[in-house]
Amino acid sequence: MAAIAQVEPLTSARALSGPFDYALPEDLRASVRIGSLLVVPFGRQELLGVVVGLAEQSELGAERLRAPRSTVDGDVPRDLVELAGWIASEYCSTPARALSLVLPPAARKGNRELTRLVATLTAAGAAALGGGARLTPRQRTLLARLAQAGPVAASALQVDHGTLRRLEARGLIALSSESVRRAPEHVSVGATREAAVTLSASQQAAVAEARAAIAARAPASFLLFGVTGSGKTEVYLQAAASALAHRRGVIVLVPEIGLTPQTVSRFVERFGDTVAVLHSRLSAGERHDEWQRLRRGEARICVGPRSAVFAPIANLGLIVVDEEHDSSYKHEGDPRYDARHVAAHRAEIAGALLLAGSATPRPESFATLRRLELPARADGGRLPSVEIVDMRAARGALHERTAEALGELRRSGGKGIVLLNRRGWSNFLSCRQCGKVWGCPECDVALVLHQAEHAIACHHCGHRERVPERCEDCGSAALARHGLGTERLEHELTRALGGADFPLFRLDADVATLKGRAAAVLARFDQAEAGVLIGTQMVAKGHDFEGVSLGVVLDADATLRFPDFRAEERTFALLAQLAGRTGRGRGDGRVLVQTLAGDARAIVYAARHDSAGFLTGELERRRALGYPPYGELIRIVCSAQAAGSAMRAACELRQRLVIDTAQILGPAPLFRLRGRDRAQLLIKASDRAAAVAAVGAAVASPLGRDVAVSVDVDPQ
Ligand code: ADP
Ligand code: ZN
Ligand code: ZN
Repeated sequence: MAAIAQVEPLTSARALSGPFDYALPEDLRASVRIGSLLVVPFGRQELLGVVVGLAEQSELGAERLRAPRSTVDGDVPRDLVELAGWIASEYCSTPARALSLVLPPAARKGNRELTRLVATLTAAGAAALGGGARLTPRQRTLLARLAQAGPVAASALQVDHGTLRRLEARGLIALSSESVRRAPEHVSVGATREAAVTLSASQQAAVAEARAAIAARAPASFLLFGVTGSGKTEVYLQAAASALAHRRGVIVLVPEIGLTPQTVSRFVERFGDTVAVLHSRLSAGERHDEWQRLRRGEARICVGPRSAVFAPIANLGLIVVDEEHDSSYKHEGDPRYDARHVAAHRAEIAGALLLAGSATPRPESFATLRRLELPARADGGRLPSVEIVDMRAARGALHERTAEALGELRRSGGKGIVLLNRRGWSNFLSCRQCGKVWGCPECDVALVLHQAEHAIACHHCGHRERVPERCEDCGSAALARHGLGTERLEHELTRALGGADFPLFRLDADVATLKGRAAAVLARFDQAEAGVLIGTQMVAKGHDFEGVSLGVVLDADATLRFPDFRAEERTFALLAQLAGRTGRGRGDGRVLVQTLAGDARAIVYAARHDSAGFLTGELERRRALGYPPYGELIRIVCSAQAAGSAMRAACELRQRLVIDTAQILGPAPLFRLRGRDRAQLLIKASDRAAAVAAVGAAVASPLGRDVAVSVDVDPQ
């Protein structure tokens, strides 16, 4: 039994290099393992820490060591402790920050099991009820009820605890506490429905490959490359069933729970209580219970967004990544992990199958994963026809052809989706007199008008202020509103088309702020006979609506204008995914794409539904430029309040970085964000491990007061 615990205290400080040794008192030695949680003295603080190693002795000598203060219930499975160690180095983060990703949800808050008191009649109690024991009428009624109903929760008995305790003291009843599961509302407990579909030939082939890989117990990774509506979910479901049959666990990653309730409910319907759902919108109690059900092996499938990749599932056999192109898989706080990359690593370690699916996969997945193809829609339907609408000569936001198509939809009582990837009323506000543009005081960006709230708001930092009545520079009351956002589009389309039999729905981040709102809007649109769903990219996620015959994309170039090497593939995916919502179920679909750049590759290929063609060209471009998967990217951003500090720090970092196998670009200034100046370095490397190690070393020592550094490996 080990006398020394090596502990990583959970602190956010970057400069500490743990783990630290603690002496275990005799009585703890048998129970403390790797993954155990301890409260340890650390300097003058007491911190929660995770045991990451055990040893017989310490280099410091046992007499100089401190002992843990206490143990904490719950622990982290050993494989997740190791996964956290890998994440810390893979993403240039710290062990403490990485470990906080894998902690049981209750560990920090002291949130415990919810229990209830249950009363059961004892043999003595039954005898007392039959014989002549002295009982008050009330006690007699109570015992009779237990005799008839079996164990009953104390809260349902309508007597005070004193009465129960007295009966317990006389040995007439037994009281026990049992834990109660706080089931998330969308988990319908117990329901299991068998698959009634007949798989298409290509679905069958894909399922057979997945089964073989799971049976082989060797790591494998496949890309399920299926057009929109080809029935990828059914393949995931059957692969999951196969993993369960081999007594192995399953993780299913979905982009965002609020936007993908259909996938979640199909898993729950098929597998019932075996499914646990983990996501940030659960209450703390629900999350605790779901996590424990997985930890104890009562649930063997975990469905959730990116953080579900850390689900405590033993003997993992399958990880599904649905809509693998979705950018929500990348975490935007330190550690800036990519759940797809973590999933690949975890599957590798566990000898599990990684099954990533998409109609518009990332070029890196297309190039590196073994492909299983589903070339046609499962219902036999055709993909919609896509028309490119040239806006160069158009006036106003809607081209005549688009307006006509919407009018026709209104007359025929059909359903449509209009995508405009910009929320708010208008993009920015300016003074007609002096030209002033209202900008964010904290960031170098314009404020966006939100009419319903009478506010102008920054979409980067959340700053908001009241809509000005006049210009504070020149006093003019003539203010101009530029551009079009979803809020105003909804207003205008409602005026033009709306009616009792033709409802309009809006879905964007402003609507979806409340829990469950996004799902509710999607459900209402799904159930409506006719109408239009207006929104940002949220409307183009994997929804399976029946009977949408018209899709419209306004300003398809908006995403193309981003100065980012992924701008084209994002635009392609957005258009192809929107087209994918159209023409399902009955009839043909039609999609109109309004653009100023009708010959851009992303738009031309999307109009032809040619993912493979687009990706092939995209990979050639990436190879020429040394971008992933032909090179590794690491982005370092320095930020500081004081002007010039961020740039100086980035220059200093550049001096420190000596990597033979990499090219370092920058420093380049970035726009000011949240009151901080920023500068960036971009590293293009051929040797990932060497570059990550060099960056880790370079950022380990401080770069001056007030300078913050963030490292992003595989930036998005
Ligand atoms: P994808 O995720 O590939 O876009 P889905 O999994 O949402 O597609 O499936 C699209 C629709 O086709 C769903 O309504 C699903 O129930 C149905 N479906 C899937 N497989 C079959 C099949 N073999 N036969 C008939 N319908 C199917
Ligand atoms: Zn002015
Ligand atoms: Zn701002």
